Parts: sequence; structure tokens; C-alpha cells
Amino acid sequence: TVARLRPFGGTIFAEMSELAARHGAVNLGQGFPDWDGPPRMLEVAREQIAAGTNQYPPGRGMPGLRAAIADDRAARYGTVFDPATEVLVTVGATEAIAAAVLGLVEPGREVILIEPYYDSYAAAVALAGARRVAVPLVRDGRGFALDVDALRAAVTPDTAMIILNTPHNPTGTMLTADELGVVAEIACEHDLLVLSDEVYEHLTFDAGHVPVASLPGMRERTITVSSAAKTFNVTGWKIGWALAPAPLLDGVLAAKQFLTFVGGAPFQPAVEHALRHEQAWVEGLRRDLLGKRDRLSAALRNAGFDTLASAGTYYVCVDLGDGVDGLDFCRRLPAERGVAGVPVSVFTDHPGPWRGIVRFAFCKRDEVLDEGVRRLLAAN
Ligand code: PMP
Ligand code: GLN
Repeated sequence: TVARLRPFGGTIFAEMSELAARHGAVNLGQGFPDWDGPPRMLEVAREQIAAGTNQYPPGRGMPGLRAAIADDRAARYGTVFDPATEVLVTVGATEAIAAAVLGLVEPGREVILIEPYYDSYAAAVALAGARRVAVPLVRDGRGFALDVDALRAAVTPDTAMIILNTPHNPTGTMLTADELGVVAEIACEHDLLVLSDEVYEHLTFDAGHVPVASLPGMRERTITVSSAAKTFNVTGWKIGWALAPAPLLDGVLAAKQFLTFVGGAPFQPAVEHALRHEQAWVEGLRRDLLGKRDRLSAALRNAGFDTLASAGTYYVCVDLGDGVDGLDFCRRLPAERGVAGVPVSVFTDHPGPWRGIVRFAFCKRDEVLDEGVRRLLAAN
């Protein structure tokens, strides 16, 4: 393995899912749902395979899907993107993130991450030969807030990009309008790009999602990333997308074309169908997840865990306290209690305040959540 990738090892998600499988544990670690997406969407994918949609799609993605992505954004947020030049279909949000960093950030430049950060951001920055600078979220009551002063202080003449993620994996934090406003102000003042990872845009429980590209001055400097994975319960389909002004999107495409060229031909019309016709299903998913958030949070609290607030995503965190190492706890949990979680400290460069924080995923059937909690309680 090359030096720039050596520090990353294997992903925590693979490690925890492997442990869960080995010990027959209830897997509340890796975030994937255990039920299917909209039935008609699944049928469209099957029909497309049967009808021969099995060869390379166009490099930017099928025109129908690109139009559906643009129409959906315009309808929900009022942000307008030209499907011909400003929408790119990618192999999941993961590829969109990697291609945006590889295609737009020169080696040696700095990329600001908000920590804890989704693991692929740090790896993408490393692959690009750039340097990451992590700015922490800070505890704010039962949740977290962006340390805007630390963000401002982190900007240097070498800064090229800020990567944002709201709703936020792993904490479930949603950045407030004020916080987004400060990010926008900093980005405009220093002429920075913003890569906005919005894969949980629909999974919001207390307030609606606000895309940073909708703020004044931001459309021209933002690459917005989202995905069908979390919206339509198809994490295995790997259909994601990037939206950006044409000159920026050309950079993303320049990298993407040599990473995977294209992907997921029969799934693209299925996701197009879902974006156009499955809003009611997505609203049902959101309501179900709200119930599951409350169900798991209350049960964890009853089981004696200090449970933190989650305003979006399908994750809730617990704080095990200063004395407990969350990574060690999660490595033992599947064998000792038959449950898997994910330690949050592995998503940081400054693990200190995060050492005792552990994430549980609630995108599981109620009986699975209940069984997970039953096991945690039994072992207490
Ligand atoms: N960003 C975040 C914050 C995520 O949680 C995930 C996936 N779980 C991704 C990106 C990757 O999305 P995809 O599966 O579409 O590649
Ligand atoms: N995004 C999911 C999570 O955070 C899964 C990520 C993965 O397996 N790479 O759990």
C-alpha cells in the first residue's frame, strides 16, 4: 500500500460489520436499512435489466435521471441546475466526493473538514496529495454546534475547500441557518470552494434541510453531493450525483471519467422514477425514522446511556463518559453483548473529546432495534 493510504487501514464500517457477522450480533453499526425501497422503483430496475439497459450509460449519466435530479432540487430548494452541464451521475456519493477533491484541489493545498468527519473525506484529500485541517464540532447541550471561530481561524492562504456535511454523519447534527451563513461568509471572503455532502437531506426530524448552495454567493462555489442510497433505501445501488456550475462540474467529471467512467445503467431509470414519483414513500420513510430515532433514543436512555440529540440522519450517539474508550468498547461489544456500534473517535484528528462517544444506527426494523436494546440491557 502506498504511503498516502497507509494511515487509513480498513474502514471501521467493514471492521464492525465483520465482527457483527462473526458473533451473530445485532448490527447497529454500519448505516444501512434492513428493509427495501419503494416497490415500483425496484420493479423499474428489474424491467430495465430485462429490456437490455445493460451497457455503458452516457458519461454524465442518463439524461432522464439528470433532468429528474435537477427538477427535484429546483422544486424543493429553488436552486436551478442545468441537467446538460451542471448535473453529474456518480457511483454513489462516495465517488462524487473523491472526484470533486481529485478534480478540483491541487496537491499541497488545504481542505477543511468538520470533525468528526465521514471517513472517505480524509482519504480523498490524501489521494489528492492535499492536506486536511480538521475543525471540531463542539458540545452544545445534548447536541453539537459548529465552532465558527475555529473555522475562521483554520483558513490560510493555502485553503482550497471546506467540506460540509449536514445532516451530519455520525452525530445527527444539522447546521443552523446562522452556522451556514458564517460558512458562506468565510467561503466568499476567501474565495473557497465548498463541497456539501447532503446524502441525508430527506432524513430530517426537527427542521427542514437547507442546502448551502442556496445561500447568497454560494451557488458559484459549491459542489453539492447527494445520493439515492439513504433516500430510497438502496445503499447497494451506488447511484449518487454532484451538482455544480459547469466549470466546477467539469473538474469533477475530469476525475470521475477515469475512476469508474460510468456506472449502474439499469438503476439510473429506477432512481429517475423514484425522484419523480416516490415523494410520498420518502415522507413515510422520514416519519418511520423519526419514530425509530425516538424509540432507540428512549430505550438507550432507559438502559442507562447518556443519549445525545439527533436532528437528522439515521444515527444517534451515546456518551460513555471520559473513562471509556469507545473504540475498545465497540471492538468488544459484538462478542460480549451481541450488538455492534461504531466509535466516533475514529472520524477525528483530535480524538480527545470524542473518545467516549459511540454511534448506533436506527435504520432497522423495530423488532431488531428492540432486540439490540434487550441485549444491551441484559448485559448491564
Ligand atoms: N457521505 C456520508 C455522510 C455518508 O454517510 C455516506 C454513506 N453512508 C456517503 C457519503 C456515501 O454515500 P454512497 O453510499 O451514496 O456512496
Ligand atoms: N454511510 C454508512 C455509515 O456511515 C455506511 C458507510 C460505509 O459502509 N462505507 O455507516
